[in-house]
Amino acid sequence: MAAGGGIGTVVLIGLFLLLGGSPSDIGQFLGSDQGQEQSQGEITGGDSSDEFAHCRTAEDGNKYDDCRVMYAAQSVDQVWETLLPREASLQYTKPGLVIFHDSTQSGCGIASGATGPFYCPTDQTAYFDTAFFSQLHQFGAEDAPLAQMYIVAHEFGHHIQQLEGTLGLSNYNEPGEDSNAVKIELQADCYAGIWAHHADDGADALLDPITDQQARSAIDAARAVGDDNIQERSGGQVRPDQWTHGSSEQRAQAFLSGYQSGNMASCDFLGRGVYSS
Ligand SMILES: [Zn+2]
Repeated sequence: MAAGGGIGTVVLIGLFLLLGGSPSDIGQFLGSDQGQEQSQGEITGGDSSDEFAHCRTAEDGNKYDDCRVMYAAQSVDQVWETLLPREASLQYTKPGLVIFHDSTQSGCGIASGATGPFYCPTDQTAYFDTAFFSQLHQFGAEDAPLAQMYIVAHEFGHHIQQLEGTLGLSNYNEPGEDSNAVKIELQADCYAGIWAHHADDGADALLDPITDQQARSAIDAARAVGDDNIQERSGGQVRPDQWTHGSSEQRAQAFLSGYQSGNMASCDFLGRGVYSS
């Protein structure tokens, strides 16, 4: 596959926009209809794929970033399989999971490592280049295990929105602190918090109870990928009218809100009022 494919052709919804990139560089965001036409049968879960053959034990999950992503994905699946029917009366279907290096072809176009983690609604798949994790340092956060898992849970949060039929409301071409783009991103952070709240529930939980320090590392990661922090660190001005993901404070608060409550109603930034908890 040729590297250096135009990022402009990639249609995705990510963790943050690239340094120096403007929302229009990311391209037009596809509505949720395309995703719904996709056959579920074409989507393979991470656990059935050969690329994760070396991930056999919890120890592997603690040792290798890609295994950690796989286990995080399984843990997030586990939480939403229970929660989504209960609180939103929706059936949960697992998204696809792809870990790539350098570049990959996604249902939303060619993605490079510089794209950052993203969710593609067209093929209902979350894409991760684990090299991205080392960039957390660049933004002032620690590359801690729970920080990595927060990123996985955030992208899966977009999958929940896809299932809810709300993901298509996001449009990076219409940024701003009160924009739908920001609301959708903050809700994905809040959904990640919900996962963290429930990740150690039950006897079959994949995660040990989360310590305060681990929770703090996830909150720090949410803060690090705030638009104001990224604008500042990339030498630009803080421009709330250009925000697509929310400020550091908003993102940290959104994660915390889901983490403390553990329910979807606390993440209802779109004001839908449809959740029971
Ligand atoms: Zn996102």
